[in-house]
Amino acid sequence: MKSINVPEIFASLVFNETVMQERLPADIYEIVKKTLTVGKRMTLEVANVVADAMKDWAIENGATHYTHWFQPMTGITAEKHDSFISPTSDGKVIMEFSGKALVRGESDASSFPSGGIRSTFEARGYTAWDPTSYAFIKDGTLCIPTAFCSYGGEALDQKTPLLRSMETLSKQTVRILKLFGHEDITNVKATVGAEQEYFLISKEVFEKRKDLIYTGRTLFGQKPPKGQELDDHYSGSLKSPVAAYMKDLDETLWKMGVLSKTKHNEAAPAQHELAPIFSSANVAVDQNQITMEMMKKVADRHGMVCLLHEKPFAGVNGSGKHNNWSLTANTGLNLLEPGDTPHENAQFLLMLVATVKAVDDYQEMMRISVADAGNDLRLGAAEAPPAIMSIFLGDELTEILESIEEGRPYDARDTVQMKIGVHALPKFPKDNTDRNRTSPFAFTGNKFEFRMAGSSQSIATANAVLNTAFAEVIRQFADILENADNFNETLHNLIKDTIKNHKRIIFNGNGYDDKWVKEAEERGLANLRATPDALPHMLDRKNIELFSRHGVFSEDEMRARLEIQLENYTKIIHIEALTMLDMARHDILPAASDYAARIAKNAELKSKYGSCEAEKKLLSKLSSLTDSFYGNIERLEAACAEGEKNIGNPDNASFYKNEVISAMEALRADGDALEELCDASLWPFPSYGEMLFSIK
Ligand code: ADP
Ligand code: MG
Repeated sequence: MKSINVPEIFASLVFNETVMQERLPADIYEIVKKTLTVGKRMTLEVANVVADAMKDWAIENGATHYTHWFQPMTGITAEKHDSFISPTSDGKVIMEFSGKALVRGESDASSFPSGGIRSTFEARGYTAWDPTSYAFIKDGTLCIPTAFCSYGGEALDQKTPLLRSMETLSKQTVRILKLFGHEDITNVKATVGAEQEYFLISKEVFEKRKDLIYTGRTLFGQKPPKGQELDDHYSGSLKSPVAAYMKDLDETLWKMGVLSKTKHNEAAPAQHELAPIFSSANVAVDQNQITMEMMKKVADRHGMVCLLHEKPFAGVNGSGKHNNWSLTANTGLNLLEPGDTPHENAQFLLMLVATVKAVDDYQEMMRISVADAGNDLRLGAAEAPPAIMSIFLGDELTEILESIEEGRPYDARDTVQMKIGVHALPKFPKDNTDRNRTSPFAFTGNKFEFRMAGSSQSIATANAVLNTAFAEVIRQFADILENADNFNETLHNLIKDTIKNHKRIIFNGNGYDDKWVKEAEERGLANLRATPDALPHMLDRKNIELFSRHGVFSEDEMRARLEIQLENYTKIIHIEALTMLDMARHDILPAASDYAARIAKNAELKSKYGSCEAEKKLLSKLSSLTDSFYGNIERLEAACAEGEKNIGNPDNASFYKNEVISAMEALRADGDALEELCDASLWPFPSYGEMLFSIK
């Protein structure tokens, strides 16, 4: 096999600091570096030099175009390509790229969702360069990561609120760290590593399924005789086409600077996972978008289709995105890493309980940050965390917190116990080995893992919410601790009170258990099952206050986002319903009817010579099922017509959830029962078995 030089290809398509240092004059490079580290603004003169160097580098690497690359609220990325060409007076062209074009772009934004923001302000949208995320080359185009906002500065994208949240988190956390004597810490970054799950099927079967083509998931389909019961797929050996795909994907991602690290099979047949090495939250969000896009592109090159939908196949594990989150100071210190001294551990405990309080106080917003029609099909299903927010800390940490709350020394297992001030703090084991795959938010040693995010979603909002909620709690803590007469005592009481007030959200048990739903209710935890139940909480006073206090979302931006998400929910279900109706009328009904006719004819023929009991029974079943199926077509048609009348009405999402989805479920049940009865060769679509085992 041809060897690949990974260090050489890594980031070869990224305009990163090494490239900048090589290509920019020293004084300009210094200014750019300051922009990156302390967020200093760049003048147009500097931007001109950077743009020129970027262009030369991009052209040498095969680019002819550039684009401002941004993440509107559609969940995917957007780009509009401009070439570098510029005409000269002698009828020729030169390749040109100005600082102005680099720094700011104007986008005809009317086709992106804005939730009424643009119409009340200005019709134009602007893209603004985010120099903290490197430019890169994708398919011959220089992509410049940008934020996208309205003329008045309202965020129209996923990136801007995330950047704002990182700023407030850093500011508040630095305040606290000063009190612990960290004079050298000037900046704290939220770090994220997003594990991405996906399905691979062959293009051939994909192209025969309208539901996959139009909606990304199957809307009909009888379960295969062999599913994941045998657990023989998880981390099993890779089939060679899959191995070839993953190799190509890794190389493609490495060139683009994405730190793709781990790859393996997941629980369901045809399901796989990719995990990157973590980076700062904004870079991780960009890299996750690139990863999703490349997963699809590379699959196409290999005659496959990559499905990123949360629930492509009913009855089979869905796909999520585990969002690993931690906090790193500019000195390299991980704030969620238990320390070696009691002093360090007190600081760790404070960060830990701050996260617990943040998630408890803003549990509805955490749920909202991952709410959409696709993820509703997964959250709460047997393989995904429930829609209830809770935190897994593991037995040992939980015992430590309990002992602090009760004011008794912790009876450490194999750890050394030490005293600080009035309370006893053990030396923590660094490796938290307990694993609980059912928890939506689990502490895993030196980071938290938020597991509710859906596989196709942008993780920008989830991290913006988490960062802001954490920043708010740390703000409150800093206010208390800065004014404390006795720091150690105040700190101890603060940790103790926080545990007491927020321990309801700590749950180390089985999140899939029905008993947990009841217990969570008794604990007063929110259980926002579906998107229309969750979204309206965006406008709860405490949430509006949180985001406006920290400058992450204004109230207008929150209202706009609510409107966009509600509309998005109804649109997705509407399209799914129409696709089902298309398949039901044009494909399933004719197949079932033809088959019934053939059975009837055979029965008639057979009756001349002998018994035709089997045909009669089958025909009777087929006929009544087909009648019921037809009735459900009419029911779904009526529900869709009703829903369409109320587009734009905020209650419409609930109508879709209650009426349209249940009509879809009824139609599917009949359709799947027909598939079970019909001649396989007459069935108009590839079966679940054919799809899930399409890659050999
Ligand atoms: P596991 O899921 O088995 O705990 P890993 O240690 O491999 O395993 O981590 C999973 C993901 O968490 C990876 O994407 C990794 O980069 C990320 N991760 C590890 N440390 C951090 C951190 N400090 N901040 C954010 N993400 C992290
Ligand atoms: Mg994990």
